[in-house]
This record gives sequence, C-alpha cells and structure tokens, in this order.
Amino acid sequence: MRRLHLTEATIERVTDMIIWLDRDGRYVFVNAAACSLLGYTADELSRLRVVDVDPFFDDEIWREHWRDIVERKSFVIETVNTTKDGTDIPIEVTVNYVDFDGEEYNCSIVRDITERKVVESRLLALNEEITRLSITDDLTGIANRRRFDAVLADFVDNHAATGDPLSIIMIDIDHFKVFNDHLGHSAGDECLRQVASVLDRIAAARGGLAARYGGEEFLCLLPRADEAAAAEVARQCQIAVAELEIAHPASMTAAALTVSAGVLTCRRPFDIARILTGVDAQLYRAKREGRNRVVHGPDTGSAAPST
Ligand code: GH3
Ligand code: MG
Ligand code: MG
Repeated sequence: MRRLHLTEATIERVTDMIIWLDRDGRYVFVNAAACSLLGYTADELSRLRVVDVDPFFDDEIWREHWRDIVERKSFVIETVNTTKDGTDIPIEVTVNYVDFDGEEYNCSIVRDITERKVVESRLLALNEEITRLSITDDLTGIANRRRFDAVLADFVDNHAATGDPLSIIMIDIDHFKVFNDHLGHSAGDECLRQVASVLDRIAAARGGLAARYGGEEFLCLLPRADEAAAAEVARQCQIAVAELEIAHPASMTAAALTVSAGVLTCRRPFDIARILTGVDAQLYRAKREGRNRVVHGPDTGSAAPST
C-alpha cells in the first residue's frame, strides 16, 4: 500500500512531466508538472492531442513518430511545446513504448530544457566568435594570414578546375620603420588600419580577399584576374593609399605614405609555394626599382610542366 502511495506521490511531485499518449497522440494521462508547465488543466489536456500542442507535429509526422515508437521502444527527442498562453518551450522527451492492458501507449518523461538551450546558443555564439577571431587580424580587422592561406588553397583548387588565371598582389608600405620612428607606434598602427581598410574594400569589390600577411605587408587575392586586370587593381591600391594622404615626413620617396606592390598572375598547374615566393620576388623588384610602384612579373607561380 505504502509503495502505491509513494508511486503516486512520485508521479505528482516530480518536476519532470509524465505524459501518457495513445496511438493517436491523445493525452490519456498527465501529471501535475505537465499541467503546470503547459498551463492547461488535466481535463483540458484530455481533449487535446500532441499535434495541438507541438508546432513540429502534424498528423503525418505523428503517424511516422508512432511507427518509430513501436519499432524502437525507447529513445529521446527534442521538440517544442506551446503553452496555453502561447509560449514556446523547448523540451526533451524520453519516449517509452508501453503495452498496457492490451492497449499501446507512449509513456513519456518530458523535461523543460529552456536553460540548456540558452547555454547551447551562448556556446554556439562563442564558438562563432572564436572562429571569427582566429581568422581576423587583431589590429586591422581584415583577414589574417591563416584565413589567407585557407582561401588561397580554396581558390587554387577552384581555379585548377576551371582553368581561370589567378592573380595575387603583395603590398608593402614604404619606409614604415622611419614612419614609426618619427610619428610613434600608435600613429603607425592607425596607418596600418587605414591602409588595410582601403585594400579590403578594393579586393572585395573584385570578389577577392585582402589579408594582413604580417607587419606592414598585405596580400590581395584576385580570382579570375588575368595580367591586365591584376595590374589595374594593384594600381588602384597604390592610388587609393596615396589618396589617404597620410603625411610621412621622413619618407625618402614622397611627402605622403606610399606602397610598393608586386603582382603575379598564375595559371594551372598551380604551386602554392611558388606563388608566394614568386610574388615576393616581384615586390622585392618594386622596392629595388625605387618603391612607390607596381611591378608585374612573369608567371612563376605555376608548377614546372612535367616532361
Ligand atoms: P621598406 O620601404 O623597404 O619596406 O622599409 P620599411 O621601413 O617599411 O621596412 P622594414 O622591414 O625595415 O620595417 C618594417 C617596420 O614595420 C618595422 C616595424 O616597426 C613596423 N611594424 C611592423 N608591424 C607593425 C605594427 O603592428 N605596428 C606598427 N606601428 N608598426 C609595425
Ligand atoms: Mg616596408
Ligand atoms: Mg616589409
């Protein structure tokens, strides 16, 4: 007798909902927790079906779910119940197939998982933020080297398949060490931000990517750009930086900040290591030939043809 009383007390006093459903999804039995969470009386619920309370269920989905219950007997699902006042509550349902007195039922233990969902969505947002930070340059907010390497690998795959040319520009600020020495490190930082923003805008307009490769060195990746298109974009970058009119009193090249750029256009078969050393060599030439200029090199970014 005591055992029966305890069983009854358990059902009525636990905070989890205990719900018996028949094969049509009708509420045959609900405990006090179910009434309190859903806002209905037991009597009201006895006239409802799962499809009236769960926005993810209709008759067809219920029938499919029932077949699953009969076959698998017990499993856990996550879904939503709408309370009488219209609030959607995320729930976890442990389904249990029960054959009782020759009738089939689903005796479910249902738990409100609102808090878990809040934590999950915070974690998801945090993860997205960590991913974003891991591919972004702290100082300038544009892509960092990790992002650049990944996008380059993607572009190379894609261009190898289509046969389009791929161009890359390496841009380095001229006389930046003396800029810092004269105007201070924070003026240098601000200058890097402005240059980055200009390059980012120009590359994005071409469907490409600008990244800070390190220090005062940037890379622009230009998909489907041949020699003429790439040279034109590099020139735009050079002009746009000049138009920032960042005073550089210690420059031996001009009164305002300038950049040098090396450009490389490559065709398949692509060789990533050669692309990077190739474009670096073009930048080196631009520096050696007097800075504040664009130098476009021959295609040294492709793997040597096999013989
Ligand atoms: P060149 O024209 O040959 O490129 O000369 P440069 O002075 O620009 O090149 P160098 O490699 O001698 O110096 C690069 C300078 O860039 C040195 C370093 O202080 C500065 N720099 C690198 N990263 C940062 C940064 O994050 N902030 C600031 N303010 N300066 C940086
Ligand atoms: Mg420099
Ligand atoms: Mg440099």
